[in-house]
Amino acid sequence: MGIRTGAQYMEGLKSRTPEIWMEGRRVTDVVNEPVFKQPIQEIARLYDMQHDPQYQNDITHICTETGERVNNSFLHPKSYEEMMARSKLFEIYAKATFGLMGRTPDFLNVVVTGMAHNGWFLDQYNPEWSVNIKNYYNYIRDNDLFLTHAIINPQNDRSKNSHGQKDTFTHLGAVEETPDGLVVRGAKMLATLAPITDEVIIYSFPGFAPGDERYALAFAIPIDTPGLKLLCREPMQDGKRSLFDHPLASRFEEMDALLVFNDVLIPWDRVFLYNNVEAANLLYPKTGIAQQPAHQSGVRGYIKLAFATEVACKLADSIGVDVYLNVQNDLGELVQNVEVIRSLLRVAEYEYETTASGEVMPNGAALETIRGMLPKMYPRAIEVMQVIGAGGLLMSPTGYDFNAPEIRDDIDKYYLGREGVASLERVKLFKLAWDLCGEAFGQRLLQYERYYTGDPIRKRAIFYNGHKRKASFSMVDDALSVTENLVETQPKLVK
Ligand SMILES: Cc1cc2nc3c(=O)[nH]c(=O)nc-3n(C[C@H](O)[C@H](O)[C@H](O)COP(=O)(O)OP(=O)(O)OC[C@H]3O[C@@H](n4cnc5c(N)ncnc54)[C@H](O)[C@@H]3O)c2cc1C
Repeated sequence: MGIRTGAQYMEGLKSRTPEIWMEGRRVTDVVNEPVFKQPIQEIARLYDMQHDPQYQNDITHICTETGERVNNSFLHPKSYEEMMARSKLFEIYAKATFGLMGRTPDFLNVVVTGMAHNGWFLDQYNPEWSVNIKNYYNYIRDNDLFLTHAIINPQNDRSKNSHGQKDTFTHLGAVEETPDGLVVRGAKMLATLAPITDEVIIYSFPGFAPGDERYALAFAIPIDTPGLKLLCREPMQDGKRSLFDHPLASRFEEMDALLVFNDVLIPWDRVFLYNNVEAANLLYPKTGIAQQPAHQSGVRGYIKLAFATEVACKLADSIGVDVYLNVQNDLGELVQNVEVIRSLLRVAEYEYETTASGEVMPNGAALETIRGMLPKMYPRAIEVMQVIGAGGLLMSPTGYDFNAPEIRDDIDKYYLGREGVASLERVKLFKLAWDLCGEAFGQRLLQYERYYTGDPIRKRAIFYNGHKRKASFSMVDDALSVTENLVETQPKLVK
């Protein structure tokens, strides 16, 4: 099939009936569900961009295997140019959503591409697994499917491993092997956008201990596979809030879901890893399935930070407070933070790494530094926005108020900004800012930046430990070399 249109993506959603639960009710008509309607449109727009002459050459390419046009997220980069072709796609998709949608289709396409092209890793444990992931990669590439993923166990007792939980099947684990496949039971989280995707892929962060064998799993299945339930969190908007009042929250909410597997049959050809603690622990560090999607996350995070910074600057200007030194200092800090991330991205791309199998990846240290900095920089941008907007953020009238003739003069007079900024312009800007820094929608965006790819504290600790293993500390050795053999010749201290 090659690249899909937005309409074809929506047709795909209509053809499936996943078991979705939201606010105590079963959602049966996904595309017409008010909560999902607009986010579906936003994803459909990305699919349509693949056919738009303005973007097509920057976000798609002709697949050498099939001769069909496919998305650049399926490129297996073997050169700087191919890596940058992917980077361009990340940037275009991120700009189309202001970096506010983290799990656009490119994200998991890159994960699967990384896994499939590192078949040598799975081959060591079971050659069938590498064949399965390669076939799966072909399947989602050629049908242009949209995936969600769930890699975290439900948050029950974090002080115990999976096999130490009270119930054997609280965490997702294998129940039995059958001739047709593997039966799995238990839960995984936090599957962002799950209700509006085609497929789900399951794998895990490292951290398995002996005894966890049944939980060491990686597989993919259609989102409407029998026995799989999607339990949605509380929606942050009801789908009825106006675009005027909530210009971002009404468009870009990514629903998150807990996935509950009630004895779900995973066909053997969809199993990529099973019953092997070592393989599950090494999948992440050995195959680049962290580093390649971190490129997407870095580009997206950069756009999101730049967007929040623009909003803060415009907000300050609209009410004339950026004449003050303290406000200039805060805004200057945000602009510099954007420059830091932009520079790190450039370093990541120019100082790329080539693996033993010839895969080109952005520089790992630079990407991990972005990963470490954004959870501090994005909340800071939100804090500055809150401080600058102050009481005005809470005071915006609604779109209906602008349409009430009895109060329109008052609104035009008292919601005016600095000279040249009309009340409508100022209110629209404050509403944009409030979606980012006040609404539940904005709080989720902040939490996303902290946790989207694991706990930032443990990630930084892993980064430090890796650094320590590789570091030579040669400057310290140089500095100390002049004091070599001096101990014996030092004059003794006289008391
Ligand atoms: C908005 C959002 C979207 C997400 N989307 C997805 C998605 O699409 N797919 C997906 O799979 N996941 C997704 N995630 C989940 C994300 O991977 C996890 O939130 C992240 O890995 C942290 O795990 P946790 O939330 O269970 O926190 P926990 O691991 O339970 O951590 C809670 C706290 O305890 C501390 N802690 C816990 N265990 C330890 C330990 N062993 N050592 C030291 N400190 C510890 C942590 O530092 C943290 O402060 C998303 C998360 C968010 C917030």
